[in-house]
Amino acid sequence: STPGGPRAKEEKIVVTVRLRPLNKREQSAKDHVAWDCIDDHTIVYKPQPPERAAQSASFTFDKVFGPANLTETVYEEGVKNVALSALMGINATIFAYGQTSSGKTYTMRGITEKAVNDIYKHIMNTPERDFRIRISGLEIYNENVRDLLNSESGRNLKLLDDPEKGTVVEKLAEETANDDQHLRHLISICEAQRQVGETALNDTSSRSHQIIRLTVESTLRENSDCVRSFVASLVKGLPFYTFPNGLRSYRFMPITVDVNKHPLQNFVDLAGSERASQTNADGARLREGCHINLSLMTLTTVIRKLSVGKRSGHIPYRDSKLTRILQHSLGGNARTAIICTLSPASAHVEQSRNTLFFATRAK
Ligand code: ADP
Ligand code: MG
Repeated sequence: STPGGPRAKEEKIVVTVRLRPLNKREQSAKDHVAWDCIDDHTIVYKPQPPERAAQSASFTFDKVFGPANLTETVYEEGVKNVALSALMGINATIFAYGQTSSGKTYTMRGITEKAVNDIYKHIMNTPERDFRIRISGLEIYNENVRDLLNSESGRNLKLLDDPEKGTVVEKLAEETANDDQHLRHLISICEAQRQVGETALNDTSSRSHQIIRLTVESTLRENSDCVRSFVASLVKGLPFYTFPNGLRSYRFMPITVDVNKHPLQNFVDLAGSERASQTNADGARLREGCHINLSLMTLTTVIRKLSVGKRSGHIPYRDSKLTRILQHSLGGNARTAIICTLSPASAHVEQSRNTLFFATRAK
C-alpha cells in the first residue's frame, strides 16, 4: 500500500526467518548444521545421516536470512517498511519469535538500533514537520507487567481500558527523547533493567516478553514551503496533497490533522517459543505443562487468526496481557512483521521445526 494512504484490506503479516551461525558450544559438542537457506525465500532441512533423506523438508517465506547475513540485511530487506510505519502514521509491531538462544535478543537489539537511526534520518529530512518521539519499555513475566524504564514504578502494573487510546498500562513511565543519542540511552536503560531481573530470577529472559514502544507524534510546521504548496494544491482543486514524507492531507481535513496522531512502533522480544509447546500428545504435554506461557500461546492464536483474515471470527486479544497491550498495533490497520529465529544445530531440530510451523501459519 502507499505510505499513509488507505491500506489494502487484510494486508498480510510479513514473515521472515533468520538462521544464525553455529555457536562455539554447538561446535565443540560436534553438533552440525541441519538447515540450509537455498535461496532468499526457502529454508531446507538436511537430515543426517543422509539415509534419512526422506525426512528432508522445505519451507518458504517472504524472506529467509542465512548465517552469513548481518542484522543490517535483515533490517533492510526484511522489516524496514514495518519498522518505519509510525512515521507514516501507522501503528506497527515487529516480533522476534524462536526458541531460547536462537538469536531473538541479538536480532531485536540490532533492528531497534537501525530503526532509531532511520527515524532520526527521516526527521532530519522532513523539516516541514515537528516530531516528538516518546519511549516506554515493559516486561511481561508470568502475566505480570513490569516497567523497564523506571524501576520505581514497580511490578504488576494494571492494564486499563481507555475509550480513546485502547488498553493502557497504568503508571508506565514514558520519556520524551531529546535526540537520537538520548533515545538510545533510554533504550539501553530498558535493556539493562531486563537483565537485572534476569540474574535475580534465574533465566527470566526465556520466560518473559520485552516491549520497547516508541510513540511518534508529528505536526506540520506552519509557514513552511510545504504548507504553501499544500494550499496551492487546494487552489488547483486536487483531491489531496501528498507531503514529501508520504502523508496525505485531503481537502476536507484541517491541515494539522493526520490520520493517526499518536502512532505506536513496538519492538518485541518474545519469551522462548519452547514455552508455547503444547502439542506433543505423547505425554510431553504434561512435562511442558507448567512452562506454558499464556501470553505467548494467545499471541500465536491471534497471529494465526489474523493471517486467516476475515473468516477467522473472534480474535482473543483480551485473553493475555501481551495481546491486550498490542491489540491496536496488530491486525486491523496496523502492520506486523515477525522474524523467526532459528538455531542451525541438529540438536534443536524439533524446536526449529515448531518455529517454522508457527511461521508458516502466520503467513
Ligand atoms: P535468544 O534471545 O533467542 O535467547 P540470543 O539473542 O541471546 O538468543 O542469542 C544467543 C547467542 O547467540 C548470543 O550469544 C548471541 O550473541 C548469539 N547470536 C545470536 N544470533 C546471532 C547471529 N545472527 N550471529 C552471531 N551470533 C548470534
Ligand atoms: Mg533473549
